[in-house]
Amino acid sequence: MDYQQVLNEIYSEITPFVGKGKVADYIPALARVDANQFAMAVVTIDGKVFSVGDSATPFSIQSISKALTFTMAFAKHGDRVWERVGKEPSGNAFNSLIQLEYEQGIPRNPFINAGALVISDLILSLYDNPLESLRGFARELSANSTIDYNAEVALSEMEHGNRNAALAYFMRSFGNVTHNVDQVLNFYFHQCSLEMTAIDLARSFLFLANHGVIPNTGRRVLTQSQAKRTSALMLTTGLYNESGEFAFRVGIPAKSGVGGGIVGVIPQLLAVAAWSPALNKYGNSTAAFEALERFTTKTGVSVF
Ligand code: GLU
Repeated sequence: MDYQQVLNEIYSEITPFVGKGKVADYIPALARVDANQFAMAVVTIDGKVFSVGDSATPFSIQSISKALTFTMAFAKHGDRVWERVGKEPSGNAFNSLIQLEYEQGIPRNPFINAGALVISDLILSLYDNPLESLRGFARELSANSTIDYNAEVALSEMEHGNRNAALAYFMRSFGNVTHNVDQVLNFYFHQCSLEMTAIDLARSFLFLANHGVIPNTGRRVLTQSQAKRTSALMLTTGLYNESGEFAFRVGIPAKSGVGGGIVGVIPQLLAVAAWSPALNKYGNSTAAFEALERFTTKTGVSVF
């Protein structure tokens, strides 16, 4: 399969979708990002890299980090994570509060904000140096030792994070957040501020396409069963309440973030990332969504 040719075609067709929607202006540091950028990258399990557009530009991975922190928690805590968080689609916005009350502070899944905050709380218990461990993990997965947090973005979120603070306090009242809320938010906003290029991002998710083993190094991160479960969760909940539409149109496990990135995996084959900052009403990148649909359509590869 000539992936470069496919990416070139997509790149030539995607212009009408780039800049459509609006950047995540509820985080002031992200409101300044130029909406007219687009990148796409494919990294195969055997290490081949294909890319187009602004694929050397790092961007804020935002909620995509939720799949990384969930992996860190699942790897250490196993099935006990399900005592704290569910595995069903929420059908509500990523930062919604309403379900939490009638479900006694147990978030529907680890990929909505409430679920990710619980996972952050768990990571604070499981790791001695949580921020260093997460950064080290992101560097290991991406094979890029320059991956880092963006302190300005983390601070900007901290200053405008009332909604996430409300979620964390509410869950603390049910005993499902155990640390001091500021500590949990500090970890959570830093994880969201991690920056990667489209190539870094695709490479970082290859372990899920490879049954839980990082192809470069051979290190097993998750068991085969855990990797399957994590990918299944991405398929059903990775794009918030647009996950059904994404599965329908694109047909692969994926995770999005309000920085405009979406990364997906095709088991046994590759990981693919697309990025463009302007978001649709669900908080998913309009152009990245479109590009990924074209990718699975043109190549005929998906999980179905
Ligand atoms: N940091 C963002 C928030 O908590 C992440 C949301 C996202 O990427 O969907 O609002």
